[in-house]
Amino acid sequence: MADYKITLLKGDGIGPEIVNQAVKVLNKVSEKFDFTVEYDEALLGGCAIDATGVPLPQETIDKCKASDSVLLGAVGGPKWDSMSGDKRPEAGLLGIRGALGLFANLRPSVIFGPLKSASPIKDEIIGNKLDIMIVRELTGGIYFGERGRKEVHGQPAAWDTEMYTVSEVERIARVAFDLAMKRNKKITSVDKANVLESSRLWRETVIRVSKEYPEVELNHMYVDNCAMQLVRNPRQFDVIVTSNIFGDILSDEASMIAGSIGMLASASLSGGKLGLYEPIHGSAPDIAGQNIANPLATILSVAMMLRYSLGRSDAADAIEAAVAKVLETHRTPDIYEESMIKVGCDEMGDLVCSML
Ligand code: NAD
Repeated sequence: MADYKITLLKGDGIGPEIVNQAVKVLNKVSEKFDFTVEYDEALLGGCAIDATGVPLPQETIDKCKASDSVLLGAVGGPKWDSMSGDKRPEAGLLGIRGALGLFANLRPSVIFGPLKSASPIKDEIIGNKLDIMIVRELTGGIYFGERGRKEVHGQPAAWDTEMYTVSEVERIARVAFDLAMKRNKKITSVDKANVLESSRLWRETVIRVSKEYPEVELNHMYVDNCAMQLVRNPRQFDVIVTSNIFGDILSDEASMIAGSIGMLASASLSGGKLGLYEPIHGSAPDIAGQNIANPLATILSVAMMLRYSLGRSDAADAIEAAVAKVLETHRTPDIYEESMIKVGCDEMGDLVCSML
């Protein structure tokens, strides 16, 4: 029996191309660090709709639950764009997150030295390195609260509800504090406690959880200030923990600071070891099948999987170092700069393997 069982959800568009490169890298790193991986594949998104009529077949949920971790490419594409909401490929994505109880979304925003010029932020603001981890609550808050429409003063109106229970805040705070302990022991909790009651409960709860982690330095920031500070002085941040809606917005802002969408990985975690790892970009139908997609976000997602679900930080570090080394000389078209060697998706995967 293999040491780890991984379910691959290759998905649509460039999904299969980039996941194949990530598997190549995982196989190479497993040889080097002496562990074995067994793969199973399952359908999600448009390919699942074509084969079974639904974006998330029960078999996919069962396979994911029976594995140590899940690697996802991306889903969606113009072929399925005209379908109604719950039948679209993206419904499969929300469905699998719910089915696996993935309440914590980790979005690192890292600038690899050689890629500094891809960032829209000035060099002197970024400095030598930028490495921020945004921990976003993923299954609560206003996206899941009560909502409705009614008439107010004779005109149509609509409302949504932001609500958090103490236990929801406690569990996401613990994920963030545990992460901070493995990083620089520094957390910024982002809220809007000057206005929102739900934010006041968030803040009180985070402060209470912080007592369990006396080594971690905690500070609080209002979300509007955080949006500004991310651009003004991003190096002040290490781990940011925040609610679903604030995290949605801030993590997109932070990813723009890193510059290229083809470079950014993400993880969604449940309370246990099982996690779902995926690049933050979509299925890029405009470049699918041309062997020009950048597989590095998916390869870096495998590094996150090794670190956060499989307990193999040694192998994760090796992959990240190999990626940084390759970027000194070789680029896929989306991050190409003069004087570099332009390579395709497949070759980029081979190059990362060769540096391991
Ligand atoms: P996208 O991220 O797929 O593409 C945006 C742009 O970035 C495109 O020009 C694309 O070519 C480029 N790009 C993205 N990833 C790249 C990579 N690895 N290498 C090189 N270039 C890359 O976003 P979109 O065009 O808005 O959406 C396309 C489809 O993906 C839609 O159906 C959307 O719903 C879906 N989508 C899926 C996910 C997911 O599966 N998690 C996330 C976002 C969008």
